[in-house]
Parts: sequence; C-alpha cells; structure tokens
Amino acid sequence: MTLPRNRALLLVVLLLLASCDGDKSSRAATDTAQDTQAATDTTPADLTAPADSADDLPETAEDNAEDNAAEVQEDVAIALPAQCSTASAPGLVACVQQARYEADLLTVASTPRPPGSAQWQLVQDLCATTFEQAGFSVTREAFTYDGRDGVNVIGTLVGQSLPDEKVYVSAHYDHITSCLGADDNGSGLAGLLETARVLGGGHYDRTLVVVCWDLEEAGLLGSAAHVTALHEANERVVASFVYEMIGYTDSAPNSQALPPGFGLLFAEAVAKLEDNQMRGDFIALIGNTSGSDAGQTLNLYADALTLPAQFLAVSDALLSSGAVGDLLRSDHAPFWLAGYPGLLITDTANLRNPHYHCGVGEDSIDTLDPVFAARVLGATLGAAATQLGVR
Ligand SMILES: [Zn+2]
Repeated sequence: MTLPRNRALLLVVLLLLASCDGDKSSRAATDTAQDTQAATDTTPADLTAPADSADDLPETAEDNAEDNAAEVQEDVAIALPAQCSTASAPGLVACVQQARYEADLLTVASTPRPPGSAQWQLVQDLCATTFEQAGFSVTREAFTYDGRDGVNVIGTLVGQSLPDEKVYVSAHYDHITSCLGADDNGSGLAGLLETARVLGGGHYDRTLVVVCWDLEEAGLLGSAAHVTALHEANERVVASFVYEMIGYTDSAPNSQALPPGFGLLFAEAVAKLEDNQMRGDFIALIGNTSGSDAGQTLNLYADALTLPAQFLAVSDALLSSGAVGDLLRSDHAPFWLAGYPGLLITDTANLRNPHYHCGVGEDSIDTLDPVFAARVLGATLGAAATQLGVR
C-alpha cells in the first residue's frame, strides 16, 4: 500500500461533495448491507450446477454497470461443502490450505525485499515457479514507467469459450527498504500464490490472469504500466481482484480508524462500524461501479465463511470527482482509472495496522491473523470462480 495522500485536501473536497453525492453513496452502502442481511435470511440454494452455456455467465462490465444501477443483484445464501472440489465455486473454497499460505508468507516476509535486492528476486522467482507449477503460462513483463524499471510476473490460463474476457487476481510483491512487510504485502502475495494453486488446476470459460506486481510502493508503477497497455490494446477485463494487506485484525474497540470526512460519503457503512465499536476485525471490499458485482458475490461468500466484511461501492461520479484519493492507494486504481472493474480487498492498512511501513514496530508475521487471511482467500476464490464461469 502506498502512503496516504494529503488528508487536509481530501477533507475539503469531501465537504464540498457531501451535499451532492453523499446521499447517493450512502444509499448504495445501505442497500448493500440490507441485501447481504436478506441473503443470510434465505434458504441456502444449491449453486453447484455447472454453467452449461455462455448465457449462464456473469454479465460483461457494461452490463454490470446497468445492473448495479437497477439494483437487480441476485442474492442467495451460499452453502459451502466441507470437501475440496474443483467442480463448483463453493467447492473450490474448501481447497484453500492455510498451511501453504503461511509457508509462503514465511518465505516472502523473512527478509526485506526492496526492488533489485536478492530477496526481491527470490520472491519474483517464487511467483514464476508457483504459477508454472499451478498450470499457468508465465511471462516476466519487464517495464519502464515513470522513469523506473521493474518486472511484473504474469500467469495466464486461457479460457475455453470466452478467451477474450479476462478475470484478474493480483497482488504486489515489492516493499520498501528496511521493513519486512509481512502484512504489506506479504499477506496479499502469499494469498495470491495460494489462490493460483487452487484455481490453476481448473478449466474455465473466461481467461484467468494472475499477477505479481512490481513497484507498487513507488507509485503503482507495475500495475499502471500493464493496465495502460491493456487499455491501449482494447483488451476486455470483466473482473479484477486485488489483494492489498489481508493479514491484520484487531478486535479491540476503537482499533479501526477512518479517513477524515469518510462518514460524509459512506454514512451507513460508518454507522455499521460504529455499531461494532469501531473494531478492526473485518475485511474491506472496495469496488468501483463495474466491480460491484464481484464485490457483492465476495460478500456473500464472506457471510458463508463467517468472515466479517464491509463492502463499499464507489460510484463513477464520486470516482471522477477526485475526492477519493485515500481509496486509490493500491493496484486496483489503474483498473478503475482505465474504466475497468476493480475490487480492492484489504485490512485497511495504516487505518488499522500500527506496523504499517514499520511505523510502530516491525510489520512482522507474528502480528498477523492467518485464520482471517485464509477466510479472505476462500471468499475471494468463490467470487473469482463465479466470474470465471464456475457455478
Ligand atoms: Zn505499502
């Protein structure tokens, strides 16, 4: 996660916007919360029937935007089988192995890994070998962006019936100098590797792309370089999941902070957090309009896994206003700014974790919550598999 932007400026812009956009955004958050509650009250449905035609697939990004505007999201509670199965999206959730996640986290976050260092190279290699062994075609994408040279690692699993429609799951692997970065972003990277292991064995209608981004801490350079090229080539992205710090929780009251002025734009969401005494025990899911479909599916899987989650939909109007700088601090931002769907999956970084960028003590593995992270992976796997065409 990159550093926060100028808070004072954000607050001023938020105050200016509160009268025009606040009600709309708050209403969206309210509806989401109500929809989620309604889902938990319904009888679990059997979602294990495989998709048999393209008609059963989730809609395109354009269609999603229309659907979200019409609020026709179909919410049903999800029943999770106990056994791992690649035949259904709920079955894939049970394939997550927390022990593999923790082993990768230990490898990644045992030593600082600033760009160009031996540990940075080791982690880059770990991305490539893990993707290859999981069944992906792998490329190391060397780029120059904003005067800096870096390397993204890209794994691709070509879709069978809709290969031009891409689903991304990604995390950055670089970190700043002299800090272990276990949460930022060892947790997200280890989560990506486990996600790739589970999803790599399947065959999907859509194309799955997994990416370890470089130079996120330098200003989202790896993702910006890649997404700029995607956009220029008119490539289609139907969903993009970004893991950015998924390992830290704190169940103590008032352990969760918010950006200044946040309550003006997301009043209902903030009220929900206040009802929970501002405990930092949830995963935040932050999507743009076209990323909301994936976010709401992920939210349903979180419910099924008893994972506390807070979904926020950032409207196109709010995004284009420039008032949400604090929500643009990771690799989902280039997707949003290019008009692609994007979903940030995060423990909210420095708004909860005092070890962010080693501010107060080391950002080390022993401060993290692997049970929580494993649930985040399960919920994300369910949503990603759904977007890929698995039911
Ligand atoms: Zn960071």
